[in-house]
Order: sequence, then C-alpha cells, then structure tokens
Amino acid sequence: MHIVQMPEQLANKIAAGEVVERPASVVKELVENSIDAKSTEIKIEIEEAGLRKIKVIDNGTGMEDDDAEIAFARHATSKVRNEKDLFHVRTLGFRGEALASIAAVSQLTVKTSTGKHAGTILKLEGGKLIECDKGDARQGTEITVAALFFNTPARLKYMKTIHTELGHISDVVNRMALSHPQIRFELIHNDKPMFKSTGRGDIIQIIAEIYGVSVAKKMIPVSYETLDFSISGYIAKPEVARASRNYISSIINGRYIKNIPLNKAITNGYHTLLPIGRYPLVVLHVKMDPILVDVNVHPAKLEVRFSKDKELYQAVEETIREALRKQTLIPEVTRKEKKERPLSTQHTFSFEFNRDNSVSATQDKQQMKDEKDIVKNTDTYITAQNQALESIEDYQSIPDITLTTSDSEDNENQKESSNEQQELDNQSTERIPPMYPIGQHHGTYIMAENENGLYMIDQHAAQERIKYEFFRDVIGEVANELQDLLIPITFDFSKQEALLIDQHQEQLKEVGLFFEHFGQQTYIVRSHPQWFPKGFEEEIIREMIEQIIEEEKINIAKLREDAAILMSCKRSIKANHYLNKDDMFHLLEDLRKSTDPFTCPHGRPIIIHFSGYDLEKMFKRVM
Ligand code: ADP
Ligand code: MG
Repeated sequence: MHIVQMPEQLANKIAAGEVVERPASVVKELVENSIDAKSTEIKIEIEEAGLRKIKVIDNGTGMEDDDAEIAFARHATSKVRNEKDLFHVRTLGFRGEALASIAAVSQLTVKTSTGKHAGTILKLEGGKLIECDKGDARQGTEITVAALFFNTPARLKYMKTIHTELGHISDVVNRMALSHPQIRFELIHNDKPMFKSTGRGDIIQIIAEIYGVSVAKKMIPVSYETLDFSISGYIAKPEVARASRNYISSIINGRYIKNIPLNKAITNGYHTLLPIGRYPLVVLHVKMDPILVDVNVHPAKLEVRFSKDKELYQAVEETIREALRKQTLIPEVTRKEKKERPLSTQHTFSFEFNRDNSVSATQDKQQMKDEKDIVKNTDTYITAQNQALESIEDYQSIPDITLTTSDSEDNENQKESSNEQQELDNQSTERIPPMYPIGQHHGTYIMAENENGLYMIDQHAAQERIKYEFFRDVIGEVANELQDLLIPITFDFSKQEALLIDQHQEQLKEVGLFFEHFGQQTYIVRSHPQWFPKGFEEEIIREMIEQIIEEEKINIAKLREDAAILMSCKRSIKANHYLNKDDMFHLLEDLRKSTDPFTCPHGRPIIIHFSGYDLEKMFKRVM
C-alpha cells in the first residue's frame, strides 16, 4: 500500500497554504465571519503587522459550545447545507475552511457566547485542541491568532516587511468598511489607532477617513437600476486620477471583489476624461440576485463569475458615464469659438475613422456625437476651452533643444544623450519630408500631403509627442536644487498614508521633498526640487507619494518620465479644436523635428499615411 489518506491536521496545514497567504488573509477571514454573524461592531487589534498577534472582537451571534468546537473542523460551516444553497450564497463565507486553516498554522484562542449563558473558551495549537474552558456570557466572539506560521517556517520567511504586511491589513479593513458602512470598524496596530468608521452608513465619511478629506470632497454620488442590478456608490471627479487600479473598490452583494472586466467597465465610463495609464477612484456597490454570481471560483473568494456579465459591465459603464455627463455643463465659450472657425478648416474629407484607425464608410452618428460631447466635457474639466488657444501659441514658442554646459558628471551624461538625440533629430527630419496641410477633419485630424502621398495626423497626439520630447529634455537637465513655493501646498492623507510618509521621511528628503506635520494627517510642503515643472508641483508630489505607497521607493527617472508625459498631455491641444493652416503647418514642422514622430508618448499612432499607390489601389485605378 503506497497511497494513504492524510491525517486531518496535515490536510488542514496544506489547505492553509491557499487560504492563509499572509496576516491580512487571517484578518479578512475573521472579519468576514464576524460580518456573517451579524455583528454591528468589529474591532481588530494587531501586533507587529499581525505576525505576533491578530485579535478580532465582534458583537455578533456567538456560538454554542459544541458549535465552537466543530467550527474548527475542515468543511464545517453553518452557512451551506446542500447543493442548492451553494447557488444562493448570501453570506461572505461558505467553504467552511477558514477557521480550520488558520488554526492549523497558529496558536489560536476563541472566546464565544450566544449571550444566553456562560460562554466557551477554546485553545488550539497547530489545529489541535489543547484547552477547553467556560467563559463569560458577553454575546459575541473574540478570536486571537498568535504566532502565525510558527509551524510553517517557509511561509514565515516569505513575509515582507512589517509595513508591507500592515498595508495589506489596512487595505482589507478599508475595503470591509467600504463594503459594510453600517458596521462600526476599528483597527489598532501596536496599540495605535489606525482606522475607525462610525457604522452610521455614511460611505463619504469612510472615504474621507481612508483617502483624506480633499478626495472625499471630489466624489460624485451615482445610482442606477436595471431589472437585474442595483448600482450605487461614489466616483471621483477625473482630476483625482491615480496611477493604479488599486483605488477602485467593486463590491458585489457586500463582497469586495477583483474583476478585471468590471474595472475596465468603470474606467471606460470615464471615457477620455482620464489620461492613458491613469485610473479613477471609485467605490461601487452592486446588488443582484445571488443566483447571478458564482462566488465559488477562488479560495479567498476574491474572484467571482457573473452569469449576465455583459449586461453588468454595460450597466456599470453607463452609470458612470451618466453621472459624469450630468456633472459637466458645456460652457458658452465652446459654441462661440465654433462659429468663429475659419472657412478654410471646414471638412474637406468625407471618409471617417473608427477608433481603431481603420477607414470605414459608415459610422454610428450617435457615437460620434457622444464622443464629441465627452471631448467637450474633458475641456471643462481640465481647462477652459480657450486655454487650448493659448497652448497653440505656447507650442510655437517651444525653443529648439539647447544644451547647457556643466561640469558635473551627471550632466555630462545627459549632454551625451542629448547629443545623440540631436543626431537622431537630424535623421528624423529625413524620415518624413515636409508635409503641407490641406485641411482638418472634425477639428481632430490634420490632412496633409506631399509628393509621397496623403497623411492624416492626430493633432493631439502630435502635439503630445512634440511637448513630451521638449519637457523630457528640459526635465532631464536640471540639477536637484530646491525652489521655494510662493504658496505652500497642504496635503491631506489617510492615516495609513501618513504612516508611510513618516516612515519614508529620509527617502523623501533625499529627493528634495520636506513634509512638515500640520495636524495629524495634514502636511505642508514649502519647497520642491527645481526640476518640477511649473503648475504641476502638486501632481508630481502626489505621484511620488503613490510610488512610495505602491513600490516603497522613489524612482526619479520614472517620475521625470511621467512628469513629461503628464505635462505634454495636459498642455496639448485637444481633439475637436479647429486650427488654421498656419497653426497646422507649424505643428507638422515641429512634429517632423521630433525624435520619434510616429507614436505619442502613450504609444498610439500619430500619422497614418496613404501612398499615391495606396490611393490608386483604393480607387481601383491600378489592380
Ligand atoms: P465559513 O465561514 O465558510 O462557514 P469558517 O471556517 O470561516 O467557515 O467558519 C466556520 C463556522 O464557524 C461558520 O460557519 C460559523 O458558523 C462559525 N463562526 C466562525 N466565526 C464566527 C463568529 N465570529 N461568530 C459566530 N460564528 C462564527
Ligand atoms: Mg468564514
């Protein structure tokens, strides 16, 4: 006989590998159990990011003594009885695995009572019951998990720094509070309060606690009903855009989940209001019949599957799009400018382009209109439309790249690379011969020609490229000197963010940022490195903080690159803006001078070229 069934304790230890990945997973499972037990108050006390101790205290239903004991057996649950129940799960838990798994890799104590009579105290070590006692009759449950992973040294070694693990725990508690605003949560780390919610159902208050008051002020309420879904929550104005998707909380029937297409639907709802690579801050609750969600696809129940997925994504996208549309009113100035557009820029071409840049004879007119509306809305968000005019003058005054002379080694290197670019520049002028504008399509694409054929140029992408290269070189050359701000900037952070800033003060000083405390979660910045572009100070400082939070280090090269992209995008003329022939000609000339005139900094194409031969083929003049 070679094959034997594992003893239960060993099986639990193996299963724990899936369910209990890190201290935050323990917090998640215990808090979920407290929520399922109908608690209205849940307190989480941790020590050393949970590696020393995790204690979750609730005021839920509690357990009778025999239930308390069986709860630690594998596949023991009060939530699912039969197959039918599995398709109608209304609780967060249902697998009956968490307590067995957590107990298998820790020293665990549970005190519980239903409030009717004396309670129960159980002590387990590595999943084995070692003590059983009577406890007090306070209704609710208190579970203490100590020495997590004491008997799985490999897992323990895998743990990251204290504050990475703490970050994960904080994230779990934040999402739980956002998912259950009617429950009072409290998180305490090493006796210091880290998070608190009131339990009064006010999501905005929770958003303020997590992301800071200034973010909370920029949230727009949303709600939408279809036959199958009830959608509600808050979405941030596009100006709050973040560099990662981590600020999207999708909550399905009270369960925070990760679902890529759903995140995409949310981001799509913002349409062009967000620059590429930027994500919104959103808290979205979706309620639906449990039969429409399969929650049994992931051991930590983070992923789910929807039966009516397409309908859901569409409803979510529409919810957000509608809310944003209502927010932005098109200002008068837009219409006035359109009247004034010069005759020479009227549409000369009749074929239209789809978003994937392929030529098509038909185009959904409604979609075109929608896109235009949204483009107009973008402008009202970022700047007034007439600022686009300024930016045209602006780009014409961009000086040629000039080299500064300096003896420092750093600048020496940059000088070299700039020299290389200069050479490339010369080459690139040969990559496209001069092009002569002949018109503009929908205020968005410039039509141009030369002896090689016809060109269509995305004016926004073209200017992004020109500005990007300009800013990239300027930013790359400035030394790390400090510049005083005329008006100091104040920043509001969440407790968790404030903690990280305090922890990284040294690193921040090294890159020229000094955060002065001004109240518990507020900081003042009075100066910044000289290379910060004017008008973008706040954005770049926020970007630095995001880098600290996500990557725990500051990558100056990436910051400078991002800053160049950000500035080039923000200051560029938008689509749907009419240019005269002179403007077009200068834009095309500047584009020809750039190192890479073919793609914008986000990688989208700038120019589409039809050779004389292509055109003749299309018109079947040649076969
Ligand atoms: P599941 O949550 O999937 O049912 P668990 O292993 O997490 O499995 O918990 C097992 C059972 O223990 C639960 O079904 C529930 O009956 C009971 N239980 C766990 N935690 C609590 C709690 N905080 N309050 C009351 N009952 C609890
Ligand atoms: Mg559970």
